Amino acid sequence: MLNKVSPIWRRLPSDLADRMERCISIASERRGQNNSGNIFFRADDVAAPGEKFARLMEIFKRHRAPLCLAVVPAWLSDSRWQYLKGLAAKESSLWCWHQHGWRHVNHEIHGKKQEFGASRNRSDIKRDLVQGKRRLEDLMAADFYPVFTPPWNRCSLGTLQLLGKLGYVAVSRSCGSRPQTPRGLPDFYANVDLHTRKERDPAVGWKNLLEELQAAISSTFCGIMIHHQRMNAAAFDFLEMLIRILFKHRELQLLNYRDLNRLGA
Ligand SMILES: [Zn+2]
Repeated sequence: MLNKVSPIWRRLPSDLADRMERCISIASERRGQNNSGNIFFRADDVAAPGEKFARLMEIFKRHRAPLCLAVVPAWLSDSRWQYLKGLAAKESSLWCWHQHGWRHVNHEIHGKKQEFGASRNRSDIKRDLVQGKRRLEDLMAADFYPVFTPPWNRCSLGTLQLLGKLGYVAVSRSCGSRPQTPRGLPDFYANVDLHTRKERDPAVGWKNLLEELQAAISSTFCGIMIHHQRMNAAAFDFLEMLIRILFKHRELQLLNYRDLNRLGA
């Protein structure tokens, strides 16, 4: 089911550009002129080469838009890293390569999927974090940035506590995720989901997506989640439209985790 495309991407609504403009203008008004809106894009499940991933990188490069990339350590090899790096080209300040789940597998028997959930013991979780971080540091060197995005946007309190001890500067989950992060570990949370949406009715999906976007931009912090394997032509067109509109609004800043950390967001 990894590659299932949400029904909203069957076709873009004809009045979409106007609706997006309206939604972002209202959001900026609500936020107030003195508050800048920080926006980041996070692409999950990165490591394997492919046409969709190449197209994603092409869009961000063309628009010079920053992108945070959550890489699955066990999927990465030196040759894959050389490939990814080749797509990224020289624009290294745009990218924030960081750590996703070690193998991206679910270990929970009951309840929601988690790779770093409460049912696992601390030493196993620590091993998966450490070996993942080591592999990314070895392959990526200075291009790696120690932020952890847990698969399915959730992890246990024990995992969050380990992150601080193991030198991670932040975690990235969904807005409102529990348990709360320990002091000193910011959560650069995502609050807009483009490709893992559950609505069956595209009209409802579009309404919800635009509302999410409006609420996120109103709140000064907007994290937009991307799953490139679930993108089709319409989803790529939309992404480009969104980036273009965001850049037109000078009160909005597109950032990556390094920038957010520098700002103390
Ligand atoms: Zn994932």
